[in-house]
Amino acid sequence: MSTLGPLPPAPLPPAPLPPAAPVPHAAAENRALGILLGDALAGRPVHVEHIPARAGREVPWPRWVPAEITGAFAARGIRAPWSHQALAADHARAGRNVIISTAAASGKSLGYLLPALTAVQTGDTVLYITPTKALAADQVASIRALGLPGVQAAVFDGDSTYAERTWARSHARYLLTTPDMLHRALLPGHARWRGFFSRLRYVIVDECHGYRGVFGSHVAHVLRRLRRVVAHHAPPDGLPRPVFVLASATVGAPAGCARLLTGLDAEEVTEDGSPRGPLAFALWEPPLTGTRGEAGGRLRRTAAAQAADLLGRLVSQNVQTLAFIRSRRGAEAVALAARRSLAARGTPGPGGAAAEAKVAAYRSGYLPEDRRRLEAALSDGRLVGLATTTALELGVNVTGLDAVLIAGWPGTWASLWQQAGRAGRGGRSAAAVLIARDDPLDTYLIRHPEILLRHPVEATVLDPDNPYVLAPHLCAAAAELALTEPDLDIFGPAARAAVDDLTRAGKLRRRPAGWYSMRAAASAGPHGTGLRGAGLAPVRVVEEATGRLIGTVDEPSAHLIVHEGAVYLHQGDSYLVRALDTGHRVALVEPGEPGYVTTARDVTEVEVRGELRTMTWGQAGICFGDVQVTRQVVSFTRRRADTGAPLGEVPLDLPPRRLLTRAVWWTVGDEAAAALAAAGIDLGGAAHAAEHASIGLLPLFATCDRWDIGGVSAACHPATGRLTVFVYDGHDGGAGFAERGFGAAADWLHATRQAIAGCDCESGCPSCVQSPKCGNANHPLSKQGAVALLDAVLAGRG
Ligand SMILES: [Zn+2]
Ligand SMILES: [Zn+2]
Repeated sequence: MSTLGPLPPAPLPPAPLPPAAPVPHAAAENRALGILLGDALAGRPVHVEHIPARAGREVPWPRWVPAEITGAFAARGIRAPWSHQALAADHARAGRNVIISTAAASGKSLGYLLPALTAVQTGDTVLYITPTKALAADQVASIRALGLPGVQAAVFDGDSTYAERTWARSHARYLLTTPDMLHRALLPGHARWRGFFSRLRYVIVDECHGYRGVFGSHVAHVLRRLRRVVAHHAPPDGLPRPVFVLASATVGAPAGCARLLTGLDAEEVTEDGSPRGPLAFALWEPPLTGTRGEAGGRLRRTAAAQAADLLGRLVSQNVQTLAFIRSRRGAEAVALAARRSLAARGTPGPGGAAAEAKVAAYRSGYLPEDRRRLEAALSDGRLVGLATTTALELGVNVTGLDAVLIAGWPGTWASLWQQAGRAGRGGRSAAAVLIARDDPLDTYLIRHPEILLRHPVEATVLDPDNPYVLAPHLCAAAAELALTEPDLDIFGPAARAAVDDLTRAGKLRRRPAGWYSMRAAASAGPHGTGLRGAGLAPVRVVEEATGRLIGTVDEPSAHLIVHEGAVYLHQGDSYLVRALDTGHRVALVEPGEPGYVTTARDVTEVEVRGELRTMTWGQAGICFGDVQVTRQVVSFTRRRADTGAPLGEVPLDLPPRRLLTRAVWWTVGDEAAAALAAAGIDLGGAAHAAEHASIGLLPLFATCDRWDIGGVSAACHPATGRLTVFVYDGHDGGAGFAERGFGAAADWLHATRQAIAGCDCESGCPSCVQSPKCGNANHPLSKQGAVALLDAVLAGRG
């Protein structure tokens, strides 16, 4: 690790720089980095890490791949596979489940295409599952481009016409679909797909790191149902059917991820054989501005504003740059700001075109032809800068850029490296820049490069045993084929009790051959439920003027996201919520960009239903267990979208809602609490501040979003009779996040303590202990008290 040498003086002192250790030539070799360091006005990186180049390792084609297929790849410029591609292909060919977990743009697809296309040519079929329709469209286009005879590839998704579906059912050998369609259409209609399922050899689960939390738990059961259906139709040819091939960004414990998702053991392929150029990774903290937040502290410049500035500077020097921005509106605003600064600089575009034409915005929902056009413009240099939402992660095949800007921690290490991995071409050096947002997690990470850049990519967190997820899939499975005793093993240890409950409730009926579904039509009930939310009926978001369905929101989140007056973002488009009808589960919206963002505030009560695991650290106790949470959204606040400046609070009148979930909580004994109070610490403010910061840091350990979890704290909580901080999963039945927090409690609370103590502010700011969704308007909060409290808790750990 290295820090940068002599830097120009910064006019606004952001954070103290780590001790300088000059690395002049490393910086000089990197053109993009040199430009970024050239202008002191925009602040400067707090750290630059130089990641060395890696040579590629080419190996011969596996012998079992027909010459026709290797020839088709050779014609597309692929002379030989990289080592990881051949290894994965060999495992799959030999009938072993396998997960390929390597960097972005390392060519994982060749690893599964070799066995899959070989199987298809001998009459077998392949099912390819992707989280997004865009990826399926790209895949089918690249398979068709190979021009291999007999490979009938078809996409089966919500947009397929009746004729396309009928064709796919009788002819497709390589079928591309989403887990949602598998759940809703292919599995319930498996009898009609007998021809396809009876020859199914490989199931490819692409981008599988995306299957996490509640959605991931649903997908895990869809894949278990698929295993049962395939076993039912499989011919007695002795071949293992199906063989799962999973592809993922680099994740921790890939075999564990494969097991959680499929319920089966898998080989791991993690050694990346593709070449990579040197990369300079800069961590950037935007400077403080004159604007003050609601508690009076100065706010930092937003990450998007900083990204727009850096993008304009790089593009003006013809450095090809990709900027990842959270929302579509943000991406468009960043592109616009960069174009304005280029026009002001008067830098001409290629061939004398207007300078502005060098920058574009990209978002989800683009048609394949639009994406191809963008790719072409980038590759021939007409386009130099692109501001994009994360839609690009799954959509466009764009790699080999000179620089990548990432506005705000993208949520996971998998995404971070996938986004940074877009930079670099051949042996040329490239730069990646992570720009911190003004919140505790970003601030903590940017100040701890040793964690940010050395942390292993997180293992996938999902919980297939969640009864709220499991039960509807058991009903769906029983409707597909009667459930037998041995089947229960497929669905995990919680299946037995869930089946008994469903039988008692009259949803399943036990007969000698197994359990049968009591539903008349398989299309009704469980199959009608979506996979992307926890509860049953989600709230529909409908455009008031046209009646158009914009999207849906999980019932548990509806009060927080689509309350009256909320600004609702859907795939980057902005809407204003006119009314929320909780009875009919409908939110009426109109298009609108009011220039502010809204945040709901709720008040929460927690009741402990049962402790599942506990540990004791001296005077402190750490618990994990079942809780009932009662939440009521009471108001919302508005903040300016550009500066974050507060614009006031609006009360709401919404009923309370109850959540049966799981929580991790920690308590402090009376003696320790009395000692802290005697030292002048406000216990309520200390617990509250520690709660906020710990919620901010849990995503680091549990792969969740800050919004997936909630918290409650009190100097003396009625449920425990002691000083207590609760952090709970915001989904019925839990989603595995609180459990992760319990498992990593020492590291989690230590990181929380460091994040608070390491913040420059005097008495608490959004970067440490303030929370944008606090139900108590961030009152009381004691920054120093939180540090002392966490020290007391951690001191008891033997
Ligand atoms: Zn602070
Ligand atoms: Zn709070």
